[in-house]
Amino acid sequence: MLLVDEQESRIEAFTTQKSLIRRIIEELREGVVYHFENFEVLLNKDEYKVTDCKYKLSFHCSTSIEESDLSIPFDAFNFVTIKDVAEFNANNEDLIDVIGFLQSFGDLKDHKKEGGSTRKLSFTIADENERSVNVVVFGQCANEIFRAKGEDLQPPIVVLLRFARINRGKGFGHLTNQFEGTKVVFNPDLPETKKLLDSLEDNPVASQSLSQVSSCVIATATNESLLSFPCRINVAQIMNFTEPCEVVTKLVIEKLETAYGWNYDGCPCDKKPFYVNGKLKCSACNTEVKMTEPKFKVHYKARDSTGKCSIIFFNRLASQLLNCVATDLKDQMIKMGKPMGFPKELSDCIGKEVLVKLKIKDFNIGHPNSSMGVSQFSDDMHIIEKFTYSEYQENPPTLTEASPVESSASKSSPKIVLVEAEEDDDLTDSQIVTPEDTNAKRRKLSKTISQAVDDGGLSEMLTPTFSSTKLLKTIKEEVC
Ligand SMILES: [Zn+2]
Repeated sequence: MLLVDEQESRIEAFTTQKSLIRRIIEELREGVVYHFENFEVLLNKDEYKVTDCKYKLSFHCSTSIEESDLSIPFDAFNFVTIKDVAEFNANNEDLIDVIGFLQSFGDLKDHKKEGGSTRKLSFTIADENERSVNVVVFGQCANEIFRAKGEDLQPPIVVLLRFARINRGKGFGHLTNQFEGTKVVFNPDLPETKKLLDSLEDNPVASQSLSQVSSCVIATATNESLLSFPCRINVAQIMNFTEPCEVVTKLVIEKLETAYGWNYDGCPCDKKPFYVNGKLKCSACNTEVKMTEPKFKVHYKARDSTGKCSIIFFNRLASQLLNCVATDLKDQMIKMGKPMGFPKELSDCIGKEVLVKLKIKDFNIGHPNSSMGVSQFSDDMHIIEKFTYSEYQENPPTLTEASPVESSASKSSPKIVLVEAEEDDDLTDSQIVTPEDTNAKRRKLSKTISQAVDDGGLSEMLTPTFSSTKLLKTIKEEVC
C-alpha cells in the first residue's frame, strides 16, 4: 500500500499476515482517509521501493484501522517530466508520475515469459515539444489500461501515468509498470491537463501531430537521444568493460566483413525462425513460418582514433544504413548468377561516420574480438557534430533483459517510423568471433559454434551459406 499524508508525503505500508491482507483487500478503498494505530516502523530496504522515504510501516493483527473524515489530498503526485525521463535526469527514481499526450497506442498482445504468457501493451507519451517516452506494461495492468482508453476519446488525449517505474535497463526513455500498482488516467481532471492543452495553442505543428493517435507503437527515441545517452565512450574504453551494458560511440565504418555472410532467412517480422519437430517456428509471432525472406545481418569493421571493433547491423537498421532492402539485393544476386555473392551496395557505407549505440553482451566480454550489435544509429552530420564523450564510467548502467521492447530509433528524418519497436535481442545473440586472419576462419567459426551450442544460444548463429552441412545438422539436432 502507498499512503499519503496531508503534506503530500508518501510512505509504503505492508503486511504479511493473511487475515489482515484479506481485510485490507475487502474493506479499504483507494482515495479514502484512514486512521492507523499500533504498527511498526521499519527501514525500507526493498529492492523495488515505491517511495524515496527511508521508512516503511508494517501492519499486523492488532493494528487498528478506522475510516476518518479528515481531508487529505488524494493526488499527491511525484511528477517527472518526459524530458527528464528521456535524459536520465529524474532524481526521484522511485515510483513516478508522468503526464503528457498520448502519441501512439498499441494492441494488447500476448507476451511469452517463463512459465506461461501474459498480456503486454505498449504506448508512447509525448510532451508539447513531441519529445516522447515508451511505456510498456504487462499483465493485469495492460488489460486495465487497454480497457480504460475506450474508443470515444478525441485526440489530443492527455494521459496521466501514475506509479510507474523507469526501466533503466532499457537505456533511454522507457517506463514500465510496478506489478498492478501502476494506473493510467485519460484526460484527468487536473490543472496540468489544462496547461498541456493550452500549450498546444502556441505550437501548431505539435498540435496537429498530437491530434492523432497512431495505432502503431513507434520507435520513439529520436537520434538526438544518442547525444544525451549517459555512457558515451571511445573504442578503447569499450574494451575495458567487464559487465554487459549499452554504450554510445562514434565510429568510421572501415570494411565489410565477409566471413559470416550478409543475410539470413527470417520470418516476415525479422526474427530468425527455428526448427521445432521439423517445422519452422517464429518465437515472436508464435506461429509456423511458411515463407522466409532474406533479412540483413551485416558485419562491419569500424574504428575510431583509439581502436578497432566489429559491429553488426541487423535488418531494420541495416536497411536504413544502406537505403535498400535485403530481398532486392538477394534477387539481384540471384539474377547475376551469384546467389552466394556479396552485393556491392553493402559497401556503400564504407568510410561513413556514424554514431552508434552498441549492446555489449556477456559474449562480447568473453570474446573481445566479437561483433557487437547496433541497437540505434545516426549518420546525420548535424547530430554527429554535436557528439561529446561523457565522463568515463567504470560501471555504466548494466543491461537487463527484463523488458522486451527495444528502444530502437530510426534515422532522424523522418523522425517517426511506423514500426513496432521490436527486440533485436535474439538476433544480437548471434555474435560471432571475428577472425584475425583468413586461415583461422573455419577453425574459429566451428569453435564459436560449438560454444554457442553449449550455451544453448545457438539457432541464430549460422548463416547457412557459411556453415558446413555437418555443423548445420548438429545444430538442428540441438534445436529439436
Ligand atoms: Zn515472426
